[in-house]
Amino acid sequence: DLEKPLENDVYEELSPLLERIDRQNKEKDKIEQMRREFSANVSHELKTPLTSISGYAEIMMNGLVRPEDMQGFSERIYHEASRMITLVGDIIKLSKLDEGSIELEKEEVDLYALAREVVSRLAPQAEKKKVRIEVSGEHVTFRGIRQIVDEMIYNICENAIKYNVEGGTVSIWAGNTLRGRLVSVRDTGIGIPEEHQERIFERFYRVDKSHSRDTGGTGLGLSIVKHGALLHEVDIQVESKVGVGTKMELNFH
Ligand code: ADP
Repeated sequence: DLEKPLENDVYEELSPLLERIDRQNKEKDKIEQMRREFSANVSHELKTPLTSISGYAEIMMNGLVRPEDMQGFSERIYHEASRMITLVGDIIKLSKLDEGSIELEKEEVDLYALAREVVSRLAPQAEKKKVRIEVSGEHVTFRGIRQIVDEMIYNICENAIKYNVEGGTVSIWAGNTLRGRLVSVRDTGIGIPEEHQERIFERFYRVDKSHSRDTGGTGLGLSIVKHGALLHEVDIQVESKVGVGTKMELNFH
């Protein structure tokens, strides 16, 4: 009779462990599936610009382009090649985050100062689209990997410009709130339909493929944001209304 309680004890001890292993396996399967989908997407995304480049080059090579059209053809090749460079850059960033091979040290990052820095880098893009950017708030620090936090704020602000309307506004606020340290980016752009709001953080997910192609997007910007957020235990909140605008908030706690 001594055996029974012991067995029960063992079971009680083991069962949460087994459950955890089960959960971990399920999580692994999910990650594995995401990896496979990602590889398939990568191949497709790289093949499209490459096919265009080799097509244009072939026509040029065969002497089928009139001299006055030469400029236009070279521009298209250049445009497609630039897309590939951005894409490959994003893929490298994501795989580094995936492997956890980012060895950079955590440091105190001033979120407000960083937001201002990001905005100054994005100024030419905003000017081109006649989008006004304003930054307000207060100095507030967070212990994190500067390069990744930079990338997160940059990608969100870049989207707020890219998916804005001409003459629109982007308002960025960084500072302390009762809920924690926030960086909030609000735009007066096209908005995101509710049914897409969850999915935009998936790799290669775009609300409007054709539009994204014009804006030069890779569909990877927000998945980099999500990875960075997971790494830093940052929460992301999205509020958006079609035709009105979008607010994305990073809560650093
Ligand atoms: P992309 O390179 O296409 O911009 P992202 O991963 O950065 O890829 O964003 C995914 C999609 O989410 C975009 O294609 C766009 O449809 C939508 N999106 C992101 N930010 C905004 C925004 N501020 N306003 C409207 N749509 C947005």
